Amino acid sequence: MLKAAEIEIKKEHQVLMVNKTTSFKKQGKSKGKFKKGGKKAATPPMKPKNGPKPDAECYYCKEKGHWKRNCSKYLADLKSGLVKKKKEDNNDEDPATYEEAMMSPDSNKWQEAMKSEMGSMYDNKVWTLVDLPDSRKAVENKWIFKRKTDADGNITVYKARLVAKGFRQIQGVDYDETFSPVAKLKSVRILLAIAAFFDYEIWQMDVKTAFLNGDIEEELYMVQPKGFVDPKNADKVCKLQRSIYGLKQASRSWNRRFDKVIKDFGLYSVMERPVFTRK
Ligand SMILES: [Zn+2]
Repeated sequence: MLKAAEIEIKKEHQVLMVNKTTSFKKQGKSKGKFKKGGKKAATPPMKPKNGPKPDAECYYCKEKGHWKRNCSKYLADLKSGLVKKKKEDNNDEDPATYEEAMMSPDSNKWQEAMKSEMGSMYDNKVWTLVDLPDSRKAVENKWIFKRKTDADGNITVYKARLVAKGFRQIQGVDYDETFSPVAKLKSVRILLAIAAFFDYEIWQMDVKTAFLNGDIEEELYMVQPKGFVDPKNADKVCKLQRSIYGLKQASRSWNRRFDKVIKDFGLYSVMERPVFTRK
C-alpha cells in the first residue's frame, strides 16, 4: 500500500515537472522524501509568507503597513456592527429567508425556483410523509436563494435550494459515517497532463442536484419545507430516502451511489480512489 503510494507520488512529480520544471529541479534531489530528512540547516530558508508590504495602504483607515483584512479599526467596527462585510458578488441582494423572498418584488420568480427544486425532490422521491416517531427529532431546513448573473450583470437564473440544517444532526442517530473521497487538484493535473500527452479528448460533465441521487442508509426525518407544507398532512414529517444538501452524510451517500453506478458501466477504481478507469 505504501509502496504504491510512493510510486504514485513519484509519478505525480514527473508529470508535474512538465509544467514546473524550474521549481521542481531544485528540490528533485531528495528522491521522493521531501521535507523528511533531518538536514534542516542545509535547505534554503523558506520564502517569507505573503504579507502586507510596509508600503501597503489600508483601504479602510488609509494608514500604511497593513491591509484592510487585518486592520484593527476595521475589525473593531465590524464587530460593533458599524460596518458590514462586503460580499464578493452582488448576492447581498439575494433574499436571506423564505419570508424575504416572498416579500421581494421578484417573489414570483423565487416561487417558481422553489417549485422547480420541489419538482426535483419529487422526481427523485427524496422523501415520504410520515408521523415522527416519539424518540426522534426532525432535522430542520432552510431555503437558500441565489441569483445568477451574466457578464453584464443581468440576472439570468433564479435558484432556490432546500438545504438541511445538518449541524443539528446527532451522530449515531441521524448519521454514522461522513467520509467520502474528494478529487485532489493534483489528480486533475495528472489527468490533464496525460490527456495532453496522448492528445486525448477531455469531456467534463456536471450532475444536476447530484446529492438528491444519494440513498440514505440511516433513518432520518426532516420537517416539511416552508411554503410547501402539505395542508392535509401538516403535522407529518419527511422521512428521507435520498440525501439532500446540508446533511452530514450527503456527500458520502452521493459518492456511494455514483461509485456503484459507474462500476455498473464496467469501470473500476484502484484502491477506492475517486478515479475510475477502463482497460
Ligand atoms: Zn487600517
